[in-house]
Amino acid sequence: MDYDFKNFGELLYDKNKMKETLPSPIYRRFIDAVNHEMPLDLAVADVIAHNMKMWALSHGCTHYTHWFHPLSGSTAEKHNSFIENIDGQPIARFSGKSLIKDEPDASSFPNGGLRATFEARGYTYWDVESPAFIRGHVLYIPTVFISYTGEALDTKGPLLKSIEAISKSSVRLLNLLGKNVKSVKPYIGLEQEYFLVDKNDFLKRRDLYLTGKTLLGLVPPKAQQLETHYFGPIPQRVNKFMEELNKELWDLGIYAKAEHNEVAPGQFEMAPIFSNANIAVDQNMLTMEILQDVALKNDMVCLLHEKPYQGVNGSGKHNNYSLLTDTGLNLFDPKGDNDTLFLIFVSCLMKGVDEYSDLIRLSSSNPGNDFRLGASEAPPAIISMYIAEVIENKFEKKSISKKNKKFKMDTISSLPSDESDRNRTSPIAFTGNKFEFRSLGSSMNASELNMVINLIMSKALDEFYNELNLYNGDKEAKAREMALKLYNEHKRILFSGNGYSDEWVEEAKNRGLHNIHTFAEAIKALNEEKNINLFDSYQVLNSKEVNARKEIKYENYYNIRLIEIKTLTEMTYQQVIPSAIKELNFICACGKEFMSKSMLTKVDKLQLFIDESSLLAGQIEDRVKELIYQNNYQEKCMFILNNILPLCSKLRIITDNLEKYISKDNQPFPQYEQLFFDIDF
Ligand code: ADP
Ligand code: MG
Repeated sequence: MDYDFKNFGELLYDKNKMKETLPSPIYRRFIDAVNHEMPLDLAVADVIAHNMKMWALSHGCTHYTHWFHPLSGSTAEKHNSFIENIDGQPIARFSGKSLIKDEPDASSFPNGGLRATFEARGYTYWDVESPAFIRGHVLYIPTVFISYTGEALDTKGPLLKSIEAISKSSVRLLNLLGKNVKSVKPYIGLEQEYFLVDKNDFLKRRDLYLTGKTLLGLVPPKAQQLETHYFGPIPQRVNKFMEELNKELWDLGIYAKAEHNEVAPGQFEMAPIFSNANIAVDQNMLTMEILQDVALKNDMVCLLHEKPYQGVNGSGKHNNYSLLTDTGLNLFDPKGDNDTLFLIFVSCLMKGVDEYSDLIRLSSSNPGNDFRLGASEAPPAIISMYIAEVIENKFEKKSISKKNKKFKMDTISSLPSDESDRNRTSPIAFTGNKFEFRSLGSSMNASELNMVINLIMSKALDEFYNELNLYNGDKEAKAREMALKLYNEHKRILFSGNGYSDEWVEEAKNRGLHNIHTFAEAIKALNEEKNINLFDSYQVLNSKEVNARKEIKYENYYNIRLIEIKTLTEMTYQQVIPSAIKELNFICACGKEFMSKSMLTKVDKLQLFIDESSLLAGQIEDRVKELIYQNNYQEKCMFILNNILPLCSKLRIITDNLEKYISKDNQPFPQYEQLFFDIDF
């Protein structure tokens, strides 16, 4: 497929388009608003809205929508057409007021008890920083979503506040050190992993279309052992999909850059070029939708679930994070000897991660990620950092060990080299000039994690500022000394070994680090005073809002697990057991007197499996009935975790065993082998 890069961003109403088409005083007012220098007034918004509408109409739009990210984890949109009845005539109108504010009925979005259903009002407000875009016949306007009483009902609002906080804290400290900067912004690159599966196979598996993952299934003899899939030749069918995906993303101004096969069969990745965190999150939400749309157009389904298949790797969304000043300085870039700022920012991140590892664990997780974190393939559930030997040496004031062998080629005179190696097992790995947060679940909205990173950095930087400000001598020397002190105080968070090993679990325990196994347990972090204070002191979320988020997370865990549990028992009764009976009939068709010994043994086995699996499915159903006696969602979640999930694991072992004994023709649904390899050729 040809792509004319001149079309890049064709469907994005970005600053360049605004500059070209808006009267210049209006454009300047808009930029002032983006830079938080002066808020927009209605008259200016009217002109922008008109301009935006003309652009949208010229691309065939009939509708616009405020687009927001409610706490359900997905995106929300309600389309309104531009049409107005002006004196009996249909006229396309779009006012500044409609651009700035909308009032969707908020009653059916998760609110965690913030409002009673009769107080249904919610408001969306235009996020001037994130450009509007077109999909199909609709103009999308990124917005924040709040309740009538002003509480945050979305993920964007708190992220924006945390971005302001980190800028303020960083600028203050940098100015104290004589650096003339006006703003500091987090930049992120979100690598998106996903699976593709043939649509026909997908539709034959209730677990896949009801829960996004398989609840049953055996790994075939060949899966990912040979390590041939990772970076391997991209299957034809997927190549076509990727071409179409890129085109759609580029048209929307998303800098899709890398694409490759991932480790597991049927697993792939796309990574855009990093950008402003707020915009990067919006673009990632959009990317996830487009991945699914383009897959469907190609008779495939894109699985964004963290662990669609047991026994092969799951999917993450690596969150590459750095902080950039308005003068273009990357504060995580180690620059030779002039590295004071680098040492400050890295040591502050270490402090933040050490003190708030429970929040990082929580904000990287969802119910799906439980089957990935610590499953000997993704980062472990223990939050630690890897900062590379060269960086440790900077703190330890050791000379850099030159153990790397220099690689030479006769054909190229200079081969660029890196200061540090990588550690693929670390949840937070330094990778040259950024930190890669690797725990985040593939299907998740990245706002919350980045909100937490921004805030823990802000807090550490503010404390740093307060101490340094009181010091009257050489501030730079003092700052280096303080960074070193922080490094020594929080060294326990550093780990450069194999994060998947059992020794690390033991070692982390000795160091007093958290090892929170499940999402349900991780939610408890929102009861902690220190965490509530962190959100509150930066006015990002008050204690009521934190509590609401806690309730929503419990409710979400409960609902997701219950859907999975019910799907599992129904599949057992309605599909697995009948297939075993079919197999029995098939074996017994010749009559008992003609059956061989091995056939009789198989009959015994099948009968045993049928009895065991229906017994277990029945036990699970009984325990599910007991859920009504649990007082609240937290108790319900713990009941599921401790009393029901172990039974589900047992049931899976039996049904997976059964799969081995059932002939191909009697299998109740496509097996893993088919799901993997229908895509990979
Ligand atoms: P890898 O898989 O080897 O880590 P990728 O190219 O798949 O590399 O992804 C790296 C991601 O990190 C990309 O999104 C890239 O744009 C992003 N990135 C690069 N430099 C920075 C930076 N300074 N800040 C934030 N993200 C960055
Ligand atoms: Mg990558």
